[in-house]
Amino acid sequence: MNTQVPPITGHVLNIQHFCVDDGPGIRTTVFLKGCPLRCVWCHNPESHEAAAEILYRAERCRACGRCAALCERGAHTLTADGGHSYDRTKCIRCGSCVKGCRVEALEQAGERQTVEEVLAEILTDRVFYATSGGGVTVSGGEPTAQAAFTEALLTACRHEGLHTCLESCGWCSAEIMRRLIPCTDLFLLDFKISDDIRHRHYTGVSNRPILENLALLKEHHARVILRCPLIPDVNTDTAHYDGIASVVNKHENIEQIDLEPYHPMGIGKSAALGKEAAYTHTEFLDPAVAERAKEYLERRVSVPVRISGKQ
Ligand code: SF4
Ligand code: SF4
Repeated sequence: MNTQVPPITGHVLNIQHFCVDDGPGIRTTVFLKGCPLRCVWCHNPESHEAAAEILYRAERCRACGRCAALCERGAHTLTADGGHSYDRTKCIRCGSCVKGCRVEALEQAGERQTVEEVLAEILTDRVFYATSGGGVTVSGGEPTAQAAFTEALLTACRHEGLHTCLESCGWCSAEIMRRLIPCTDLFLLDFKISDDIRHRHYTGVSNRPILENLALLKEHHARVILRCPLIPDVNTDTAHYDGIASVVNKHENIEQIDLEPYHPMGIGKSAALGKEAAYTHTEFLDPAVAERAKEYLERRVSVPVRISGKQ
């Protein structure tokens, strides 16, 4: 009988190096697949599903036919008019065709990796953590949706003496949050919309579990930075800013607010995934709106308020 315990694996979207907006210092950020929320403005729609997904950017395609030769399912075909067609209904997302595309018209989002594989890549950046006060951030998608992998990865990083951040929407069970507290030095927790009805409308879920988890983190004296996206026509109103201030003033463990101005990168990715974007605002957030939100909040809270992307 084989008694070997299989290694813990997770669906990893990608690993980004030299990140400066995902916690203190220079960080390596591990993005995981899968998210229980469907924020209409999401800029990473390729992270929604837990399994791998295929992005196809027709504007890059040269109709060379290499993908058609590699796909055993017949999902790619060359058309009579010299074009190329990709039928997602036949695709099982094996990724074979992606390797054949030389112009990056095809891209695979997500692959299974072990904790050891991810840790080995993280450790290549170790020298930068030491000099900058940085470390590792596990993000998503939603990392609590792969709780066992996230816990194992953060714990492994801790054993290596690395500073750990968990960037989360906060929408998970209290049991999962409790498991992640001991292996996380700093939580980067999202607070998107104060009003619960609007939160359900724009994200698909209630904000109550998020508020309950914030209370739990306070109870455990966990360090928290509150991350607040600023989305045009969704949450750039003073009622929401008052809601942010109220949450921050009730939780003395929240030590900073990060305002995250909207950018429209998700729209093109939705199209490449064969999905229709639910929110089609094509402009970046007006920087003046973010500045006004910052000033408004600074008059109501005693913690620093920062605009992401501005040093
Ligand atoms: S991912 Fe696999 S099944 Fe899907 S189109 Fe490519 S080769 Fe075919
Ligand atoms: S391999 Fe790439 S460039 Fe060639 S037909 Fe397929 S998608 Fe188009």
